[in-house]
Amino acid sequence: MTYTSIVSENPNLPYQLRVAHLYGDLMNTYGDNGNILMLKYVGEKLGASMRFDVISLGDDFSADDYDIVFFGGGQDYEQFIVSQDLPTKAVELKKFIENDGAMLAICGGFQLLGKYYIEANGRKIDGISAMDHYTLSQENNRFIGDIEIHNDEFDETYYGFENHQGRTFLSDTQKPLGKVISGQGNNNEDGTEGMNYKNVYASYFHGPILSRNARLAYRIVSNAFHQKYPEVSIPAFEAILADEEKGQQITDSKRKAEK
Ligand code: GLN
Repeated sequence: MTYTSIVSENPNLPYQLRVAHLYGDLMNTYGDNGNILMLKYVGEKLGASMRFDVISLGDDFSADDYDIVFFGGGQDYEQFIVSQDLPTKAVELKKFIENDGAMLAICGGFQLLGKYYIEANGRKIDGISAMDHYTLSQENNRFIGDIEIHNDEFDETYYGFENHQGRTFLSDTQKPLGKVISGQGNNNEDGTEGMNYKNVYASYFHGPILSRNARLAYRIVSNAFHQKYPEVSIPAFEAILADEEKGQQITDSKRKAEK
């Protein structure tokens, strides 16, 4: 059963974006679900009413029904269960990705979109090979801690917290989300963190990534918006920030008046 977890309540939003939250009941480690709240917040700022459907085991996923896909992280136990169901959605997920759909995948979700993932116990589980990255295991070690990366193409710095045993290696067609400035990243060898292919962004950042990195949130939601409403212009990131600051001033002056 597909069930809707959140819908925008403001009836005056003229546009609509529909988000598929893949396995939201199983893949939601370390606050990943906070990304949903940030997608909602940014979407509403762009004038879009946001609707989130949790699509889980046994549910149908149709690429044409969604504008954004979010796929969070999970422990090996849940990740294995999900890996058994994911092939039923593979064709439509690949279609979504190749048609420039906007997607965010975190940690275990990131791993399962690739060729395979080797669990901490050595078992190899297949991904759906939507992209060509693969993930090896490591002996008695996890990459845990604060991390900072820089994306040269966008000239943006992202901050996060990583916690994974998998060591992911990208293919030539995939760009990293950023170069590691501090922390361990995809594999602690090649200086890459996360992945960007078309409008798909993936990362090992938990915590959640979007509320700490608002420019990335804006990029993902605005990509989805442009795909669906190419003729509509949307407020720039800076304009939204300026609006927020105004809101803050109003709140501050109200507070002063109340003293
Ligand atoms: N189970 C995977 C790993 O340890 C993913 C973990 C996660 O999503 N935090 O690498």
